[in-house]
Amino acid sequence: MSTRELVESIYEQVRTRNAGEPEFHQAAAEVFDSLHVVLDRHPHYAEAGLIERLCEPERQIIFRVPWTDDRGAVHVNRGFRVQYNSVLGPYKGGLRFHPTVNLGIVKFLGFEQIFKNALTGLPIGGGKGGSDFDPKGRSEAEVMRFCQSFMTELHSHIGEHTDVPAGDIGVGGREIGFLFGQYKRLTNRYESGVLTGKGTGWGGSQVRREATGYGAAYFVNDMLQTHNRSLDGTRVVVSGSGNVAIYAIEKIQQLGGLVVACSDSSGYIVDSKGIDLEVLKDIKQVQRGRVSEYVDAHSHASFTADGSIWDVPCDVALPSATENELDDKAATALVKNGVNVVAEGANMPTTPAAIKVLREACVAFAPGKAANAGGVATSALEMQQNASRDSWAFQYTDDRLADIMGKIHSRAVETAEEFGMPGDYVHGANISGFITVADAMIAQGVI
Ligand code: NDP
Repeated sequence: MSTRELVESIYEQVRTRNAGEPEFHQAAAEVFDSLHVVLDRHPHYAEAGLIERLCEPERQIIFRVPWTDDRGAVHVNRGFRVQYNSVLGPYKGGLRFHPTVNLGIVKFLGFEQIFKNALTGLPIGGGKGGSDFDPKGRSEAEVMRFCQSFMTELHSHIGEHTDVPAGDIGVGGREIGFLFGQYKRLTNRYESGVLTGKGTGWGGSQVRREATGYGAAYFVNDMLQTHNRSLDGTRVVVSGSGNVAIYAIEKIQQLGGLVVACSDSSGYIVDSKGIDLEVLKDIKQVQRGRVSEYVDAHSHASFTADGSIWDVPCDVALPSATENELDDKAATALVKNGVNVVAEGANMPTTPAAIKVLREACVAFAPGKAANAGGVATSALEMQQNASRDSWAFQYTDDRLADIMGKIHSRAVETAEEFGMPGDYVHGANISGFITVADAMIAQGVI
């Protein structure tokens, strides 16, 4: 059997064993697509069921989350934590609160997280969790009661040496605060290292809030620099207007880029003078409003409810909202308008068909597991600070983040070259992350 046939047969087993989880199949297929070239050179990675073990989470926890709304009505949501792989360190990965969350989504995110965390070079395993709870439109008290109920079950499965959750869609500083408070109450321990993304006044790291977006901007700058360009004067479109998008916009602007469009689930705004970040932050972070309100402050800007943000011409595109938001039609529009770089701020926002369009057009494309790894890397720095009861200055932490992103960029570039696919960040990131995890799994035996 050729290595390609072997990888295909393992992929078919994974699909059959995990029926009805299309996002997980998609994430696995993307990694599997890089594996046969590795197995051609290193056949021992196919021994001892290594790939099969890697695809099966070490532990999957599904639990009931009952809570009471402000009117006294009882709601029941479903909670998840998938502890995927702990070969490099405690499970590490965010919690997502969104109505679309199900086991397949959590497994896709957890699987990606294994390789992303390996790429950071830091001692963190891969995991992910969340709930189908929708925080949108809920009062502060309702969100708090939900978080307390969620943590009442989750607390017995996590810990600073076991599993360290953080935020993701729908889980920001507010939710991490409620979750941490309940963990402390249930365990009677001030265990700072059990969650990351905490407030900087009580164990959080400087730059953690900004890290995913800042890191993606650093990564894009590194991509441009390999072609003797930079973000300075470059026209950029960023989808989303949540944690990742806002801080990607901030750092791109600091590096001289012109961000002309961003979005939320209700539509997108275009401001050809450049997005006014203060206004955007006020709408999204303070008022928890909709991006459409931006035009109230800037009448020259436009809001489009029905349409694709990827129709807006740009040099650089950063999909930073959610999975599969950039399809082949969108990729074709980007290429037609002359895009040079696409980097994933979100997890798996680009469909396989869109990646094919970008590859064929020779657009530099960075997968999320490399480009958005700055968030989890800074979470690992938060864990380091918690372990040493220390807290680092903003600039020092930001410099460490930039350095880590530079190293991830180099690893992806060098690995792609080593395996005969120069400039292919997808294969470079997949192969580099896989080898790190696979070597550790072999060293630790069949567990
Ligand atoms: P947030 O909840 O802070 O923001 C998500 C943003 O995406 C919101 O603006 C939301 O709009 C928008 N959005 C969600 N669904 C859609 C949709 N279908 N169409 C258009 N816009 C949409 O989440 P984050 O910024 O934290 O996460 C964004 C992505 O980045 C996710 O894929 C996440 O997994 C990934 N990521 C996050 C990390 C982090 O540190 N937070 C780390 C690494 C990856 P609305 O307000 O209308 O819902």
